[in-house]
Amino acid sequence: MTVTTLGLPAFGRQPEPVPADMPLHGPLIDTFGRVATDLRVSLTDRCNLRCTYCMPAEGLSWLPGDDLLTPDELTRLLRLAVTQLGITSIRFTGGEPLLYRRLEDVVAMTAQLEPRPEIALTTNGVGLAARARGLAAAGLDRVNVSLDTLDPARFATITRRDRLDDVLAGLTAAAAAHLGPIKVNAVLDPVTGPEDAVELLRYCLRYGYQLRIIEQMPLDAEQLWRREATMSAENIEVALRREFDLRADPAPRGSAPARLWLVDGGPATVGIIASVSDAFCSACDRTRLTADGQVRNCLFATQETDLRRLLRGGADDAGLEAAWRAAMWRKAAGHGINDPGFVQPQRPMSAIGG
Ligand code: SAM
Repeated sequence: MTVTTLGLPAFGRQPEPVPADMPLHGPLIDTFGRVATDLRVSLTDRCNLRCTYCMPAEGLSWLPGDDLLTPDELTRLLRLAVTQLGITSIRFTGGEPLLYRRLEDVVAMTAQLEPRPEIALTTNGVGLAARARGLAAAGLDRVNVSLDTLDPARFATITRRDRLDDVLAGLTAAAAAHLGPIKVNAVLDPVTGPEDAVELLRYCLRYGYQLRIIEQMPLDAEQLWRREATMSAENIEVALRREFDLRADPAPRGSAPARLWLVDGGPATVGIIASVSDAFCSACDRTRLTADGQVRNCLFATQETDLRRLLRGGADDAGLEAAWRAAMWRKAAGHGINDPGFVQPQRPMSAIGG
């Protein structure tokens, strides 16, 4: 298999041998005993918003079309993931997955896989109003919609686009299409965040969505992230407690990244995802596939495994499976954001798939 250290050309390398102690069958396991059952698939690196903490105003140089997996290539990898690697849930993301023209086809194909995986979508919600019903009909089970504020001016400042009404309409349509439980994902600005957190939670309580607030991570394309310019999980909790009673949800957390709090006695909950200040790597059950066919074993991985090259080089399923397994076998114990030697991956969040 070919391991690509990002930024260096992969050509001319010798394929790496499969680690001798790596199981060739059974669950998709790493050397720390974690089992990956949740696959995140980035369908495109393009996006129609320009969130300031994600990418620059002018966008990025998008992946060339020839580098993207074709629907047939993607189908082959998803089938392998479900039938051979034990993947039980698949989340389509991006970039903005609604910009992927064959999304409904890919969802329908995924819904045909046996055993049928749970199928979810992470989207900014722009354009969802027109597609929620069709996606549900194709087999989509649920959506997460990203929304950082309910204030139209702040929304336009954060996303550099005036599309708040489209997102809210998308949420309404998703609920009408029964794409629930609907989760609203927010990354908060440290200045306006306390107010936005409260407004977002009120809104989510009113409509029956689950709000999840995520600490901003060093995955922006411009590499401008600074810890002190983000809102920590602790500060998020403080802001919410000013208006709501929060009690730790006694239900087991499992591999969920969000720590859940019962709001005002429940049953509604709010999730806080402390990706930076209290990482949950030891319970991580994810494997990732980028739109150009690279397996990543972590959001913060600095190495990828090039399945597209293997696919186009005529690899059989056993070869693809071994490469995917080896990529996961090498997964580090933790993402290392808080280590002094941390190096931000060259690929930004929008090209990895959040
Ligand atoms: N376009 C889709 C969306 O907006 O949901 C899917 C891709 S987007 C990269 C997925 C999630 O990543 C969004 O909720 C976004 O807010 C979040 N995100 C982007 N950059 C981030 C960062 N640096 N730290 C934390 N979350 C980030």
